[in-house]
Amino acid sequence: MDLGIRGKRALVTAGSKGLGRGCALALAAAGVDLVINARGEAALQATALEARALGVSVAAVVADITTEAGRAKVLQVAGQVDILVTNAGGPPPGSWENWGREDYLAAIEANMLTPILLMKAVLPGMMARGWGRVVNITSQSVKAPIAALGLSNAARTGLTGFVAGAARQVAPQGVTINNLLPGIHDTDRALSLDGGVVKARGITMEEARAERMAGIPARRYGSAEEFGATCAFLCSQHAGFIVGQNILLDGGATVSTL
Ligand code: NAP
Repeated sequence: MDLGIRGKRALVTAGSKGLGRGCALALAAAGVDLVINARGEAALQATALEARALGVSVAAVVADITTEAGRAKVLQVAGQVDILVTNAGGPPPGSWENWGREDYLAAIEANMLTPILLMKAVLPGMMARGWGRVVNITSQSVKAPIAALGLSNAARTGLTGFVAGAARQVAPQGVTINNLLPGIHDTDRALSLDGGVVKARGITMEEARAERMAGIPARRYGSAEEFGATCAFLCSQHAGFIVGQNILLDGGATVSTL
């Protein structure tokens, strides 16, 4: 399917690895020029190289997207963008008894304020041009809380509430905002979460993964490639009537009727 976005320009934050990288490469495959960002230079340049091989132009910006200075640097390079995919690292697992004010503030900064401020920066241009796509990478945790990820449950639900309102305010100008909610996907993040389970319970990595898969109707982890393909579709010309939605990619793990 031709996604109809060849020649558009996208900013994908935290896009050097995992789900962000999957989105960046799927957009590149659709002919979208990219600005990608991460803190580490090596993986960022490797992803940029892969995307360029697909025939698009790529600017790679090393910055911490959760800081004011990092966002300013990325936005300055990005300039006018038609597509924004917001992403950042997820908060650490733990338990509510141990988190203090600073932990909540860090999670809110990374997983709520960062996407909101990035949207604030690019939405006016998209609206003025009458076309835009925003996809926020959030989490399954906004549909059903994950006990060990209380910081994610809290911060991302705040973002979800913001999007529910803002998406309806920008839609008249041809701009859509939607959220993609990953369940478990085979990335470094999954490796680190499963590593925590291995340590806490004294089981092997294979056992931790098998246990997790047993709770997923699809009986597997998701891949960054299929996640990226869904993201690219949401950014496509065909997705203009999808507004303010929260789309779960979790192999059926979240049990609900709607
Ligand atoms: P990942 O494989 O660990 O990749 C994270 C990416 O974000 C890397 O490119 C990393 O590069 C970049 N990054 C992290 N912090 C950053 C920052 N402050 N500024 C700029 N770039 C940053 O993670 P993932 O699995 O793709 O997860 C992406 C998001 O989805 C996370 O928020 C995660 O919590 C959420 N999620 C993931 C899953 C899953 O199963 N994978 C499930 C639910 C939700 P650098 O480290 O070099 O900066």
